[in-house]
Amino acid sequence: MAGGVTTDVKAYSMFIDGEWVASNSAKTFPVYDPSTEEVIAQVPEANAEDVNRAVAAAKAAFEDGPWATTTAQERGRVLFRLAEKVRQNLPMLAELECRNSGKPIVEAEFDITDVATCFEYYGGLATKILGYVNPVPDNAMSLSLKEAMGVAGQIIPWNYPLLMAAWKLATALAAGCTCVLKPAEQTPLTALELARWFGEVGLPKGVVNVITGFGESCGSPLVRHPDVNKIAFTGSAAVGKIIVKEAADTVKRVTLELGGKSPNIFFADADFEAAIDGALFGVFINQGEVCSAGSRILVQKSIYKKFVEAMAEKAKKIKLGPPMERDTKMGALVSKEQYERVCSYLEIGKKEAKVASGGWRSDKFAKGYYVQPTIFYDVDNNARIAREEVFGPVAAVIPFEDEKDALKIANDTPYGLAAAVWTRDIFKAMRAVKALRAGVVWVNHMQPTYVEAPWGGYKQSGFGRELGPWGIEEYLETKQVYINLNESPIGWY
Ligand code: ADP
Ligand code: MG
Repeated sequence: MAGGVTTDVKAYSMFIDGEWVASNSAKTFPVYDPSTEEVIAQVPEANAEDVNRAVAAAKAAFEDGPWATTTAQERGRVLFRLAEKVRQNLPMLAELECRNSGKPIVEAEFDITDVATCFEYYGGLATKILGYVNPVPDNAMSLSLKEAMGVAGQIIPWNYPLLMAAWKLATALAAGCTCVLKPAEQTPLTALELARWFGEVGLPKGVVNVITGFGESCGSPLVRHPDVNKIAFTGSAAVGKIIVKEAADTVKRVTLELGGKSPNIFFADADFEAAIDGALFGVFINQGEVCSAGSRILVQKSIYKKFVEAMAEKAKKIKLGPPMERDTKMGALVSKEQYERVCSYLEIGKKEAKVASGGWRSDKFAKGYYVQPTIFYDVDNNARIAREEVFGPVAAVIPFEDEKDALKIANDTPYGLAAAVWTRDIFKAMRAVKALRAGVVWVNHMQPTYVEAPWGGYKQSGFGRELGPWGIEEYLETKQVYINLNESPIGWY
């Protein structure tokens, strides 16, 4: 227990089959405020037995419970009511998210607003799941029906705790699935708060279960469970690969949203001030703990020197501070483990490239996992800091000669989640949009994304798409129905 300080520690239960329960082992684990290193809560440590309980509840709710016969209109209304609860409780949820994750309160408020919007979007989409009439060459009516996949296991990360829960739950519920959600062990608190309203908004027991635990002892049994029909995972590439393998034995449907090493490309003709802002925002928002972080900043040689200087100058002004202060622009990293990971990349980076700004933990604070926004430059695209996802406030600036060179470097990565390009030349911009091998491409911006648009990666950034109508498809099966309209015998034999 870091520092051994325990002030105001709240004991949480987890939510299975409509009840607040402990783990069957009675074990719990601590949850921290990473800006003070204090324990703020204790949560149950779920094991395989608890996973079995949660999956059994989700299966019963899907097969025998009222959820199967709940109309699409009513599923939609449940989501609207949940959105309303989130909006009414925005200050509480934002503060808890901020304390538990270390992100600035202002960013946490945006996240929680997005949570409500996500529930509203899928509340509306629940009644728009349509089938088809297939034009078969026979005296028959052929239909394609869309049906809920069944029990969804949902494993999420710590960078946007409640928003990641909303992306997963809203979609699954609109589709008519039931859920076992496992938040990240570092940040389970807002998902548990959300669960308090499930009964009140009209979710029957067992439809959504929230279990708190670690990856190997809780996530993995969920992935391997034969009664789970689908796994939706957001997290590291390393764990994504394990999940694909473990899900293979039961041929589960899997969607993966994994890491990235996204290029943010700056041509010499881009608006300079906007470009500097965009480079910093692209990589430092949420302490750089963003799967789509523009962590490779590709800059055309003719503006390279001036660009690096201006970035460094502005990065020094980013206000690193206590997450709850409203003028804080960068908070603490989420955990000791993540902090140590990021610090190890700072050491690697110092050997591989030059430092334009940062490079150390912040000495402003005696406690808390604060790291200075760090810019490495003259980075080779083959360097580890250009290839491996750091998931922290660490930028790698790479020079390029011309358009061809830029696109080649941009695509030279095992990942393909996101990319951005900055130029005033529409031809150059559109050629880049076509050439970039990434699931999300921005032109003259980086990071804004909305529930209406698809989210997901190419290459080793995963497969499947979340959000919009694409997201709901990932929770639906397609059933072919053939209705014979010819009353006479086939007459074959
Ligand atoms: P990080 O290492 O940055 O914390 P992870 O990919 O390990 O990212 O974590 C994302 C989510 O995946 C968390 O909820 C974590 O508990 C879960 N997880 C980690 N390992 C496994 C595993 N082997 N099987 C299933 N889930 C896992
Ligand atoms: Mg991990």
